[in-house]
Amino acid sequence: MNSGHIETKVIHAGEPEPRIMGAVNMSIFQSAMFEYAGETSYHDLKYIRLNNTPNQAALSAKLSALENAEAALVTSSGMAAITTTLLSILTPGGHLLAQNCLYGGTHDFVTRDLDQLGMAYDFIDANQPDTWERKLRANTRAIYVETMTNPLLEVADHKAVVQFAKTHGLISLIDNTFATPVNFRPPEFGYDISLHSCTKYLNGHSDIVAGAIIGKASHIENVKHHLDHLGGSLDPHACYLLHRGMKTLAVRVRFQNESALKIAKFLNDHDAVEKVNYPGLESHPQHARAAELFEGFGGMLSFEVRGDARAAEKFLKSTKLPVIAPSLGGVETLLTLPAQTSHAGMSPKDRNALGITDGLIRMSVRIENTEDIVNDLNTALQQI
Ligand code: PLP
Repeated sequence: MNSGHIETKVIHAGEPEPRIMGAVNMSIFQSAMFEYAGETSYHDLKYIRLNNTPNQAALSAKLSALENAEAALVTSSGMAAITTTLLSILTPGGHLLAQNCLYGGTHDFVTRDLDQLGMAYDFIDANQPDTWERKLRANTRAIYVETMTNPLLEVADHKAVVQFAKTHGLISLIDNTFATPVNFRPPEFGYDISLHSCTKYLNGHSDIVAGAIIGKASHIENVKHHLDHLGGSLDPHACYLLHRGMKTLAVRVRFQNESALKIAKFLNDHDAVEKVNYPGLESHPQHARAAELFEGFGGMLSFEVRGDARAAEKFLKSTKLPVIAPSLGGVETLLTLPAQTSHAGMSPKDRNALGITDGLIRMSVRIENTEDIVNDLNTALQQI
């Protein structure tokens, strides 16, 4: 069942046919290995690390269907998806063009680990396509961006990224965690590989860490062989939780889109708020692009309250409903200061250069009643 709307696919795509012993729900196959059935390649032996056991296979098929892609892999974390993909594509001697504002873990891997592994990188401003060509090298293999940047919610020039990759024979990579397949499906726009931290929206319940690699079959096959060796495979029990969580992805994300837009508008109109970053606001510099490319603007926003970082901390302490915690994409609203959490690995100088101030607050809007959250934020804003 690979056709139909995304609300239908999250339920039916990738489900075993016929149902195993009639089971309506995909059960947990907690078996490390399976009987030898004449496989001729090491990579086809049924073994959890080889990413082909029943729970992994069902999830891979579902993930691939959600983005209308050819193939997918599920991994033990978002970082396992990102690092395994980069290592598979760059190989020693390779060079990467990467967006200058990245999730902190990806930024740290690119800036601290690639060099040791014999790989190089250059950062690009993903909104200035005319500056990319001068960063190209003979050994450039890939271009890497995020659908919306964490935590500033900038929207890259995605059409230009895909075109640039095609023109120069590069593999185009995108971290689509923030948008989810509900709001944006990179393979439909020509991206070669889409990456996810399934820890976030795809699972949606803040109880596992997982990742996904989705894209063209030839690329996925190459990455799978490296994943089989590097070992970042997802355990069947975590697969089961992810599978279960994904079934409500579409309803959760659509609600979060609506709720986040209302909250962004409320914050934007509030006297105690200095600045709001949300692509759904008309004041956002890439609002027109986001409206053209995305089916929804997502559940993530960031903002600065008037005053310094202490005012931001006071505001956080004064809220009652949101949990003050890193991560995102589950059912409870979260607030965090990226300078202290997701982007703590970056130097203050690098953070400030990008606009990630010490007082920048990131909000992951979840599925509580929107009015209750707005009232709580309003009360907290009056305390600063
Ligand atoms: N990509 C983005 C945009 C993220 O926000 C995160 C984690 O916060 C990751 C990747 C890494 O995912 P994981 O924590 O599942 O390894």
